[in-house]
Amino acid sequence: MPLYLDYAATQPMRQSAIDAWTRAASSLNPGASYASGRKARSVLDDARETVAELLGCEPIEVIFTSSGTEADNIAIQGLYRAAQTTSTTSGGAADETSTRIVSTPIEHPAVLETVEKLHAEHGATVELLPVDSTGHVSDLSALDTPAAVATCMWANNETGAVQPVADITERAAAQNTPVHIDAVQVAGKLPINFHELGATTLAASAHKFGGPRGIGLLLARRTPAPLPLAFGGGQERGIRPGTVDVASASALAAALRESVAEMEQEDTRLTALRDKLQAGIESSIDNVIINSAEPTLASHLHASFPGTDGDSLIMLLDAAGIEASAGSACHAGVNRMSHVLEAMGIDEEHGRGSLRFSLGRMTTEEDIDAVLAELPEIIRRARSV
Ligand code: PLP
Repeated sequence: MPLYLDYAATQPMRQSAIDAWTRAASSLNPGASYASGRKARSVLDDARETVAELLGCEPIEVIFTSSGTEADNIAIQGLYRAAQTTSTTSGGAADETSTRIVSTPIEHPAVLETVEKLHAEHGATVELLPVDSTGHVSDLSALDTPAAVATCMWANNETGAVQPVADITERAAAQNTPVHIDAVQVAGKLPINFHELGATTLAASAHKFGGPRGIGLLLARRTPAPLPLAFGGGQERGIRPGTVDVASASALAAALRESVAEMEQEDTRLTALRDKLQAGIESSIDNVIINSAEPTLASHLHASFPGTDGDSLIMLLDAAGIEASAGSACHAGVNRMSHVLEAMGIDEEHGRGSLRFSLGRMTTEEDIDAVLAELPEIIRRARSV
């Protein structure tokens, strides 16, 4: 069995999720009004209520999607379009506010590319909140001008940096700007209370907390609600129409319940393991840059090894039976530094050879010892080519 340290990418399904999925696998259409439809509906309602209770919102605000990516897209495109509809119905052409988007340079591609598309194809003007060298959003003043939508991730998927989302929602609220929070890396790891947070929408994804791949969550307040991107049978308040996968929704709820129940304990356990990994890397390898800085998720450790490149590091680790992620992106076959490190002010020469280790519920101290035993030699070999 390979040693898996890529929990931020996805993680094995929890047994509780597999059991819930199996129990609900024969559910029929939850929209049908006869007995088997009502039965499926009741399983779906239970899942929706569990999610609402665990994430601090009302069941009606829970919208099941196919992924975190879909939830991000519906929220951002849908809130942007909703703002334009309001502005054109209340007075002619779309005004400056209704075409303005505030975002950050460190978003996941699900947000980054959605915002870019709205800019390129729908005339959105985009302002990015600056990020400091620790990977945290550092200046919120762009939020003092109203916008159609502001969007910010709760924690960065590469470095784990936890962003000041409560300050962002508060500042945006003063201008009546709707806020979308991408909480895909946070759900099941940090407490979420949607109402207390004051966001308009929030995205999460089941496979990041031990649920199945292929189901995500969008929490959406009654108003302003995002306009739908697809049209059909009106399910999920018409915001995400299509017959809901009841078995996956049930598995998502079970995985979220278990993650939330063990959250505190796991946070302490993973912090100790992550700190051990960091200290071990710093003491055994020269010239290392640690890119994960507090406040950060306990699960993430992102490090750069100047003189290497991400692809070679992943291949050498893989050959040693260790699965982690290159903290960089591959564009057209060329290994390039990630946009996140670039926003943090790291140059290509230092950031091209980076690794993200992400720990999870099955990570043990022996796993960390095994990585620390292999890594110095892997870096030495990567630097010698
Ligand atoms: N947003 C963040 C911060 C993520 O880390 C990811 C996945 O890595 C996504 C969105 C997309 O989620 P999904 O894989 O469910 O589409």
